[in-house]
Amino acid sequence: MEPSDIIRAEISALSAYHVQHSAGLIKLDAMENPYRFPSSLQDALLARLATASLNRYPSADAPDLKAAIRHAMNIPNELDILLGNGSDEIIQIIAMALAKPGATLLSVEPAFVMFKMIATFCGLNYVGVPLTTDFEIDVEAMLVAIQRDHPAVTFIAYPNNPTGNLFSRDAIARIISACEQHHGLVVVDEAYFAFSSESFLPDIVHYPNVVLMRTVSKLGLAGARLGMLIGDRRWLQEFDKLRLPYNINILTQTAVTFAMAHYDALLAQARLITDERTRLAAALSALPGIHVFPSQANFLLIRVDDATRVFSTFVSRKILVKNPSQSHSLLSNTLRLTVGTPDENDAMISALQATPGI
Ligand code: PMP
Repeated sequence: MEPSDIIRAEISALSAYHVQHSAGLIKLDAMENPYRFPSSLQDALLARLATASLNRYPSADAPDLKAAIRHAMNIPNELDILLGNGSDEIIQIIAMALAKPGATLLSVEPAFVMFKMIATFCGLNYVGVPLTTDFEIDVEAMLVAIQRDHPAVTFIAYPNNPTGNLFSRDAIARIISACEQHHGLVVVDEAYFAFSSESFLPDIVHYPNVVLMRTVSKLGLAGARLGMLIGDRRWLQEFDKLRLPYNINILTQTAVTFAMAHYDALLAQARLITDERTRLAAALSALPGIHVFPSQANFLLIRVDDATRVFSTFVSRKILVKNPSQSHSLLSNTLRLTVGTPDENDAMISALQATPGI
């Protein structure tokens, strides 16, 4: 027999999430924080990890870690926290919980590709409403989709990946209330909150149909794989039933609990990155032939005349960025550059300076 005899057709049709090879390259393709955990804290972190009971299953609901996150991120007491093995796992939990036959997951396009992939994994219909050419939400088109498809869940990344911008709050508020009318949940995905001037955290208590997702991945802890959902207990207690037991391993629980006690140090790194974002954006905007889109995240989306050629120039200089040009018509001839250290950013600037005609 062949696997295709029994594998679901929509899974056979998928290509696996592609992670680019990065050995020996300056890695600026995945929005990681370029800075390691502060060296002054590494011994204390190691001492903490040395005490972790690797012979035991980890705490199933990780109360210490949740308390540390609540304190660091100032999460109001009336909201609960659910932890995932990365926010990817949380997207999957939400999708599994809502995957009634015929149910729809709605998002905008271009957006984080896992919204669509996970919809497919879980057997949800996926609807992606194109953004406008300046990457704003097309509210009228979203309202039409909400009326037509009654999405069980709508994912909005704030700031958005891969465009980097914050959508209009008013647009999001209109989508939230339309979804409420049609009994749909809205997930505001704040993966890039540490680099953004805005957040929905103070607002979600006012909305019965909104939950907020965050991750420590962009904050300097991508290797730990920890994401969180913040929201009303009525939602989180249902989602928690789908969480696999012990989904957050003991090394992650220990390391991130420690890191949250030193949250200021992580935020200081995030500030270095946003300062560099400003410098990089100014330097690239000054070059002819490059359009830099506004960003509130730790990456910049740029448009050039020939993204394939610029990507090759980067590779020849051992710099790895993301070329999302083929993934959506609105992204033609764009590159997504993660903001790195000053040296890494200089390397990108000089590669672009050296590309004649861009
Ligand atoms: N949401 C958005 C908008 C993202 O860009 C990403 C990662 N690129 C994620 C969620 C997933 O993050 P995590 O590492 O927590 O799974």
